[in-house]
Amino acid sequence: MVPIRLLAVGAVGALLMLPLLIGCQRRPATFKATADPGEIIYFVPVREKVIALTFDDGPNEPATGQILDALKHYRVKATFFLVGANVEYFPETARRIKAEGHLIGSHTARHSRFDQSPAADIARDIADGCRIIETVTGTRPRWLRPPYGINPNMAEAAQAQGLAIAGWSADANDWNPHPVSEIVNRMVAQAIPGDILLLHDGRETEHGANRNATVAAVPQILEKLIAKGFRFVTIPELLQAAGRPIAEFEGGLRLLGLQIPQESITPGEGFWARYFWDVPAGWRNGMPPYAFVHWTTAEGAIQFQDDHEIPRRGDVRDLVTKHLVIVPPATQPGRYQARLGLFDPKQPDIRHRVRLRSSYPQRQGAVIIPDVLDVQGAQKP
Ligand SMILES: [Zn+2]
Repeated sequence: MVPIRLLAVGAVGALLMLPLLIGCQRRPATFKATADPGEIIYFVPVREKVIALTFDDGPNEPATGQILDALKHYRVKATFFLVGANVEYFPETARRIKAEGHLIGSHTARHSRFDQSPAADIARDIADGCRIIETVTGTRPRWLRPPYGINPNMAEAAQAQGLAIAGWSADANDWNPHPVSEIVNRMVAQAIPGDILLLHDGRETEHGANRNATVAAVPQILEKLIAKGFRFVTIPELLQAAGRPIAEFEGGLRLLGLQIPQESITPGEGFWARYFWDVPAGWRNGMPPYAFVHWTTAEGAIQFQDDHEIPRRGDVRDLVTKHLVIVPPATQPGRYQARLGLFDPKQPDIRHRVRLRSSYPQRQGAVIIPDVLDVQGAQKP
């Protein structure tokens, strides 16, 4: 498209467009399409409307079989993180998962408490899980979903076994008892392209654990998200669809994604914004990154803001930051856009911003997020 425009506008026009072309080169690097052993993937900025559905704690009958039936009906491929002890108890189900084209990852052999166990026990549980899954299914897993979330203490053992680490970006808290509608609504409301959704088809090493609510929720989640245009893929396929992050800041800190509500908001109300950050270890000598998020009119006037500190790598639940943003009661109806940047932690003066690269327009050292927030004037009944 650019060369055609260049021909049409002539030499002077081409000179005027030079800054634009240079601007194009300042795009962030594409997200890697594969994961190295020990690397944590919890959300992927994607080029298509793809999403990954993952199940932990299986195989567990009859729940796993019923979920496999639903996945087959909707022609959906998922990722199952199996517990070795359960694989030994339900080997036919483990083989069925593989035979039906789903990806099998490891959820360790015994589902031990990674948050409380010594490193040697963690390493053994990871190694045993890989060995059991390979013996029963004939395929060695390449992905680990650590029990009890991401802890830095298991990265080395995962790497030694050649396992990339699968986090998640959205869950339905279905390890606790919840009504089916609540599980469905939580999953569907959160889902955006690139999400890794977490559900449970078992409960740790329990055989025959009751997962009726999740089993009933799965077909509804699939139905609703397929109707919204989502395509379900396994985690490695999600990486194959990787695109560019929204912004890449100096030092490699990235904003992978941002979710704001699609429906309109009334002044005085709050809304949840979900930010997907990736902060490299030791970024700027461990200084806490601090984001400023200004919600502005099309003309750039700031109406309200959501400034916040960005969590550094720890538990996976901290990687997705979720903020309740209050739209002040006096906000005029209209369409607002988020202008997002990082304060430079080395500079006490808040006017200093960390340099960034983005495919989107920038203003005053911040990226203008393309999604629009619609603020309505009328009070909702
Ligand atoms: Zn688990």
